[in-house]
Amino acid sequence: MQLILLGPPGSGKGTLASDLEQRYQIPHISTGDIFRRAVREKTRLGLEVEAIISQGELVPDTLTIALVEDRLSQSDCLNGYLLDGFPRTLPQAEALSEMPVVQNKPLTAVINLVVRESVIVERLSNRRVCSKCGRTYNVVSLKPQIEGVCDACGHPVIQRKDDQTATILHRLEAYHQATEPLVGYYRDQNLLIDFDNEKSIQDTAQAVYEYLEQIRPQAEADHG
Ligand code: AMP
Repeated sequence: MQLILLGPPGSGKGTLASDLEQRYQIPHISTGDIFRRAVREKTRLGLEVEAIISQGELVPDTLTIALVEDRLSQSDCLNGYLLDGFPRTLPQAEALSEMPVVQNKPLTAVINLVVRESVIVERLSNRRVCSKCGRTYNVVSLKPQIEGVCDACGHPVIQRKDDQTATILHRLEAYHQATEPLVGYYRDQNLLIDFDNEKSIQDTAQAVYEYLEQIRPQAEADHG
């Protein structure tokens, strides 16, 4: 399975990706996670992108494309992968289509998560994450057992800088301008399918899984 998860920030891509990663045993490649790890570890990449991310801007295409191309060329991607947060611009989508891994095995599907903006703003402002392992919590619906402490690794649970309201609005603007055109781009290629993800992520994950199982035989017959 060669999958892309599309949708605005806060539409649930990361949570769905974890589910699909387990079901299909394919690597979950989140550019946001890669950038955040680099910032935490203060690598050269991290220092370069820190201000951009905390302001809710997009990292330049050339840098992002090179990073993803390198990641997709690793051997664990030979049997498929799940892209979350990439592509986010038309030049990124076009560059992806030229990458050897995609030329050898075309994309299976683009899953587009649909959530109203009011729901997104509420979700993101209530979101908290573990500062170490990145596990996600919600101050209303999914609190850690001990306040402020990650259930999985015991490190502090914090609010992402870019989950503050002003930055959320900026990220949504970037989404509308740069990323939303990809919906039409992939729809025209008959790759895109919409899933409403306003309610239960478990129900959405099940529906996505059923859809993928339905198209899998044909996709495998076409592309191996
Ligand atoms: P995410 O976790 O996907 O919401 O990404 C967090 C932030 O990382 C974004 O707001 C951007 O600043 C940056 N980022 C992640 N993926 C990309 C991408 N494909 N292109 C440009 N910037 C990105």
